[in-house]
Amino acid sequence: MSVRAGREFLAIPGPTTMPDAVLQAMHRPALDIYSDAMVELTDGLLRDLGRLFATQGHCYIYIANGHGAWEAVLSNVLSRGDKILVLESGRFALGWGIVASGLGIEVEILKGDWRRAVRPAELEARLRQDTTHQIKAIVVVQIDTASGVVNDIPALSAAIKAAGHPALLMVDAVASLGCMPFQMDEWGVDVAMASSQKGLMTPPGLSFVAAGPRAREMHQRAGLRAPYWDWTLREGPEHYMKYAGTAPVHLLFALRQAIDMLFEETLEGSFLRHRLLGEAVRRAVAGWAMGGALSLNITAPAERSDTVTTVLVDGADPLALGRYCKEKCGVVLGLGIGELSGRAFRIAHMGHVNAPMVLGTLGVVEMGLRALNIPHGHGTEAAIDYLGDSVGA
Ligand SMILES: *Cc1c(COP(=O)(O)O)cnc(C)c1O
Repeated sequence: MSVRAGREFLAIPGPTTMPDAVLQAMHRPALDIYSDAMVELTDGLLRDLGRLFATQGHCYIYIANGHGAWEAVLSNVLSRGDKILVLESGRFALGWGIVASGLGIEVEILKGDWRRAVRPAELEARLRQDTTHQIKAIVVVQIDTASGVVNDIPALSAAIKAAGHPALLMVDAVASLGCMPFQMDEWGVDVAMASSQKGLMTPPGLSFVAAGPRAREMHQRAGLRAPYWDWTLREGPEHYMKYAGTAPVHLLFALRQAIDMLFEETLEGSFLRHRLLGEAVRRAVAGWAMGGALSLNITAPAERSDTVTTVLVDGADPLALGRYCKEKCGVVLGLGIGELSGRAFRIAHMGHVNAPMVLGTLGVVEMGLRALNIPHGHGTEAAIDYLGDSVGA
């Protein structure tokens, strides 16, 4: 039997659910790409991306997924043979490092642990050893979508300062921008990047890079610059060059609508919503964990992200649970990836999510735990109690 008719619901960390208004915004003819309306659309989006990253720096829009933006960042500031330090806390900073290796950049990994955030003191200690400043840039994710960790970007920036090290700080905010605070300039971040398909509620296919003055200065000497990604070529007066070719008009319509919705909710409102729904998920997992088979991957409560929760499964098959939720109920869970492959599932709560979507997902997971005889305590009820108490009357 199954109870899955109707809309399939994605609880994976990207692509995320898109609002109907975002889908509808694309259902119209393309703009004349040489018109004033096109230029205004681009200018407005670049200005608002600056607001999202909280930077006075330059923003760039790429027709690319996150991997493309990683390459854009690296190629615009570095040269072949330069060294970078990758801060491990899951899979995604490592992924950025793999792209860097492919470009001929020397990659050192500051070994981390998939169950915790990067330790600022460990970064500071490593940088103090680098007395000749061989490390040109440090790459880190704000939220790692594999482990579910949130890194403390201002604390890592402070550690770099404390070590007196000149390396650029480059941050991946793909799974966090629009969902939790990000203050590029205030935090001393030199380059930040994000993508359309996570918290920004837009179809996959767009990525964004913001570059501060130190990064733009290094850009002048970067040997890896390539025509499609090159910041200088994109900064000319000609609108066409802002995309190094034809603008992705419909994706831009979608992004315009999504950012309008985000600003209408207010960023503070979105951050609070993510905090409430994230905590509701954690309360549910804590309840399930009473059965002994499930646990939260990230051990320290303050290091658990508000956009994705990674749940470890011991003595049962998370793939079977994922299959149950999808085939019986039409809810698609994220599964464990990388080191956590076959040992975990993930619940995304980022972007266009609300209480029924989160509570529905939790209810379906609990249904699956029961149907598959995976030992668990009551969890969904704890999430309901938490939201009932916190959201208030
Ligand atoms: C999804 C994601 C990316 C980018 O992935 P693409 O599939 O290349 O768009 C990068 N970093 C993080 C933290 C992510 O969650």
